[in-house]
Amino acid sequence: MKLVASAAQMRAVPRSSEFRNGGVSFWFRQTGLPDRRPALPGSADYDVCVVGAGYTGLWTAYYLKKAQPDLRVAVLEREFAGFGASGRNGGWLSGHLAGSRERYAASHGKGGVIALQRAMMAAVDEVIEVAAAEGIDADIVKGGMRVVATNPAQRARLQEEVRLLQEWGFWPEDMYLLEHDHEPRLRVDGTVVAAHSPHAARVQPARLVLGLARTVADLGVDIFEDTPVTEIRPREGEELPAAVTEHGTVRAEYVIRATEAFTASLGGPRQRWSPMGNSMIATEPLSADTWRHIGWEGREVLRDAAHAHIYAQRTADDRIAIGGRGAPHRPGSGQDGTGATQPQAIAELWRALARLFPAASDAPVAHAWSGALAVPRDGCPTVGLDSATGLGWAGGYVDSGVTTSNLAGRTLRDLVLGRQSELTRLPWVGRRPRGWEPEPLRWIGTQVTQGLYRTADRREAHHVSQTSALASLAEKLSGR
Ligand SMILES: Cc1cc2nc3c(=O)[nH]c(=O)nc-3n(C[C@H](O)[C@H](O)[C@H](O)COP(=O)(O)OP(=O)(O)OC[C@H]3O[C@@H](n4cnc5c(N)ncnc54)[C@H](O)[C@@H]3O)c2cc1C
Repeated sequence: MKLVASAAQMRAVPRSSEFRNGGVSFWFRQTGLPDRRPALPGSADYDVCVVGAGYTGLWTAYYLKKAQPDLRVAVLEREFAGFGASGRNGGWLSGHLAGSRERYAASHGKGGVIALQRAMMAAVDEVIEVAAAEGIDADIVKGGMRVVATNPAQRARLQEEVRLLQEWGFWPEDMYLLEHDHEPRLRVDGTVVAAHSPHAARVQPARLVLGLARTVADLGVDIFEDTPVTEIRPREGEELPAAVTEHGTVRAEYVIRATEAFTASLGGPRQRWSPMGNSMIATEPLSADTWRHIGWEGREVLRDAAHAHIYAQRTADDRIAIGGRGAPHRPGSGQDGTGATQPQAIAELWRALARLFPAASDAPVAHAWSGALAVPRDGCPTVGLDSATGLGWAGGYVDSGVTTSNLAGRTLRDLVLGRQSELTRLPWVGRRPRGWEPEPLRWIGTQVTQGLYRTADRREAHHVSQTSALASLAEKLSGR
């Protein structure tokens, strides 16, 4: 997606009279923003202290408490549970593995990568099963994932991707091409070839995170909201690790950092993950007639095969919610807490919507918002626990955190409880990727690579039948 919409194109976006930009996300507009839980009342001791109440922090607390009900677990949250990416994302619960398979294989062999990939696929079902067992109604439908190529270069890339995945833990039924799909259930304009994977589900992100927070609180975890942590301290001699807040300090055997794109605002490994903005829009509900044109009865999650790809879902109330990289990180990695996004991003997303679904092109946009995800320098997520310092972490999920955070929560449970398990042997455990360059180099580098990807997409749409050399250059520059 490019950020070059003209003023006229921005004005051309149909907006509903109720249009809103920001307000955290459309998902929270559906549920209403939650009443905040009380802040930390003062200094306290716990067995485990988790910083951040998104999916990562909450899954970690959930699995710890399930495994050992007498464990004293606190979650400290700066705003409210789900305020971050967990309450703003595209609702893709998918088996997609972020990062370079070759890089994971370098330390754990091909078998390790395949085990990680199968664990990601299993995590999709795990989330669905826990949600059902705990009575969390998050509009979940496991309709699989559809990837569409809309030009010859994308087709070549998608065909190669499907072929390569068979070498990395996908069986033929895990992802396959729909070359001769004459009567597609999901009709996306301009599709030259599509691929399908059953390992994905649509979710309503805010309902999932709110339900998870309620479940965790019911299990006896203390969630303190409006409680920003200003410092995380490692164990020093007899001094336990600690999370420091203006309300008091929580000391615990283990402190887990689950702050993803916000991590740079805490002390510590400032440069390890770079925040990257993503924007989304949601239309008003589409008419039955429009849905007859589009199909999409299976509620598959959808993306295209562009370098700067878009992702979309059909919501439970029959809107299209579509997102893409529309809000690049700002110099210094500051973030806009309200979730408002730029008019250019709205116009670009709407143009993508109208291109892929001409039948929906007059549907007014009801809501636009943005959030930030975390990108590691090498693109590979990590989870780990340092028993010497007592500090744990998980994140750098790029665009796969809805599922990966669940795997992280179970892995952190095993690490905290000292269990050697299949999960703790996976290749993403304990990795320490190299850090990002300092600002403004990081910002400049990100702008250059994103610009190259967008130009490559434009060229592929008009001139070339193979992946543009500019995209290969961007890959080289980003070092992933
Ligand atoms: C627009 C968008 C679309 C996306 N789409 C998808 C998708 O479809 N599928 C997918 O898999 N992934 C997607 N992602 C990524 C995914 O949402 C994230 O990877 C995932 O939600 C990360 O969860 P988390 O709990 O680690 O982080 P977060 O949800 O960001 O939670 C971190 C929490 O920490 C809190 N916090 C921060 N600093 C402090 C502090 N100092 N003290 C206390 N608390 C603090 C924050 O308030 C926040 O609640 C998307 C992300 C965005 C932004």
